[in-house]
Amino acid sequence: MEAILQKGLTALNLPTENIPALLTYASMLAEKNKVMNLTAITDPANVARLHFLDSAALLTLADFHSKSVIDVGTGAGFPGLPLRILDPSIHLTLLDAQNKRIEFLREVCAALNLEDISCIHARAEEHAASHRAAYDIAVSRAVASLPVLAELCLPLVKKGGLFLAMKSTDSGEEVKSAARAVKLLGAEVQNVLDYPIPGTEITHRLVILYKISATPEKYPRTFAKIKKNPL
Ligand code: SAM
Repeated sequence: MEAILQKGLTALNLPTENIPALLTYASMLAEKNKVMNLTAITDPANVARLHFLDSAALLTLADFHSKSVIDVGTGAGFPGLPLRILDPSIHLTLLDAQNKRIEFLREVCAALNLEDISCIHARAEEHAASHRAAYDIAVSRAVASLPVLAELCLPLVKKGGLFLAMKSTDSGEEVKSAARAVKLLGAEVQNVLDYPIPGTEITHRLVILYKISATPEKYPRTFAKIKKNPL
């Protein structure tokens, strides 16, 4: 795993000095995954590529320096925690609806002396009540379709901030179907960037939404309403 990270981060032009922290994180993930379901990816080479390098690639696609960043539906910490490990200037919040996952992330943060990271057990649509327009950047991977995800994430982003949705390259129709939601929530699609994961044949996609204006107060609705009737 160490060699894959060294090669992959170098290919991305990212610093390699925090690889030991990523290795500690990986071993805690492997250990905890034996007793609870954190990830379906268990082969160390795939953890390095599909979790760590996939997350790390975001640092080459947007400016995270000194930004407040929330990872919505972070699960076992992806993409947020690798981003913060590789760029310590990020002010990070990890949010998930499952408390066991948040407890695991608190253990990893403590082991790595990253106590300034906020690990919050909450649903995104409820977190917005107290953290409306509070973050420069929201990121999310593998949580919901873009029309649903936009309503969960955009209310949390400041005007002038970004929502970065990690998607597969076959998400063209999904992105189109989110156009109405993105507009109603005060944003626009700024860019759709396909990027390779170093050391693989895999290409993933980052959909970048730019927050133009405040999200109307009526959003986000309850999750039942969002799911039943996506914007
Ligand atoms: N982002 C991680 C990744 O890519 O490995 C985890 C993806 S996992 C498939 C989806 C996660 O989103 C779960 O941990 C789930 O608890 C969380 N989730 C789903 N809906 C959510 C919501 N409304 N608010 C917060 N977390 C949510």
